[in-house]
Amino acid sequence: AKQRGKAGFVRYVDGMAEPVLAHMQLGGELRQALDNDEFRVVYQPIVRLDCNRVIGVEALVRWHHPTRGMVSPADFIPAAERTGLIVPLGRFVLRETCRQAVAWLAEFGPDGLQEAGLNVSARQLHDPDFVSDVAAALADTGLPCERLVLEVTESAVLRGTRVSRALCELDRMGIRLALDDFGTGESSLSLLRAFPAAIVKLDKSFVDGIEIDDGQPAAADARKAVARAVIQLAHALGLDTVAEGIESSEQVAALLDLGYTVGQGYHLGQPMTADGVSRLLALQRGT
Ligand code: C2E
Ligand code: CA
Ligand code: CA
Ligand code: CA
Repeated sequence: AKQRGKAGFVRYVDGMAEPVLAHMQLGGELRQALDNDEFRVVYQPIVRLDCNRVIGVEALVRWHHPTRGMVSPADFIPAAERTGLIVPLGRFVLRETCRQAVAWLAEFGPDGLQEAGLNVSARQLHDPDFVSDVAAALADTGLPCERLVLEVTESAVLRGTRVSRALCELDRMGIRLALDDFGTGESSLSLLRAFPAAIVKLDKSFVDGIEIDDGQPAAADARKAVARAVIQLAHALGLDTVAEGIESSEQVAALLDLGYTVGQGYHLGQPMTADGVSRLLALQRGT
């Protein structure tokens, strides 16, 4: 049965027609992987651009498959959403992140790590138990609500009144909501009026090429114009910003120039284990 399961998975990731059977097999594999403790959470530093200080992290899930090795979330999150397994998987990421954030707060104090964020998909926001799951995770771990950031995408937010109600409840609880991949959606600007966001995360696609000087290809200038519009809007609405996918010091300089103060990307820190984050926090302790 295990062999068949693997075959189903391989057919799926190869991008061929997705037979219903393969879906069910992948769903079963994900369920089994959760039971077998094959998922891990890594953390990517969120960093102050002017001084490189780590002020937060984003939790990112990883699947350590016993034979295939590391499977990227891009290859299993969509299936986890379709099969509903994202609900228990997301609950695992939530618990793990809260528990870890409490450990960092205890070791490094409230200025060591200001917040921990994690990704929440539409399917989770639709789950009637989601808000109480979050409340329980905070209560059980002792993480103060203002330390938690929940990252949602525009398409997840635009899913009707149940999702809006859940987001408003989370906001009322004092949890900070971040709009992920900001600028890539259809109606980002009007969405900000309706959605209780505290943070906008400028999508990587606007950071790519932002270091190219004005007068260079028009495409780069267009990206800079979007990045400028987003920061102006964020300032006007009192929102924090995070620039995503920063891969060079030239991009850091260009973003600082536009007024961005916080960012995330391979240049500033790769996703790493909790121990890796602890080492960074230890290095900057007392500075
Ligand atoms: P995302 O939320 O936009 O997360 C950022 C992704 O960009 C991560 O990929 C991260 O490793 C990658 N990244 C960070 N800096 C750079 C950079 O400088 N250059 C490039 N090229 N990439 C960078 P990852 O970990 O593969 O995750 C992919 C997506 O999977 C995430 O996109 C998120 O939508 C989803 N995801 C990951 N973990 C979870 C989770 O626990 N729950 C849910 N629902 N979705 C998750
Ligand atoms: Ca994210
Ligand atoms: Ca708020
Ligand atoms: Ca993102």
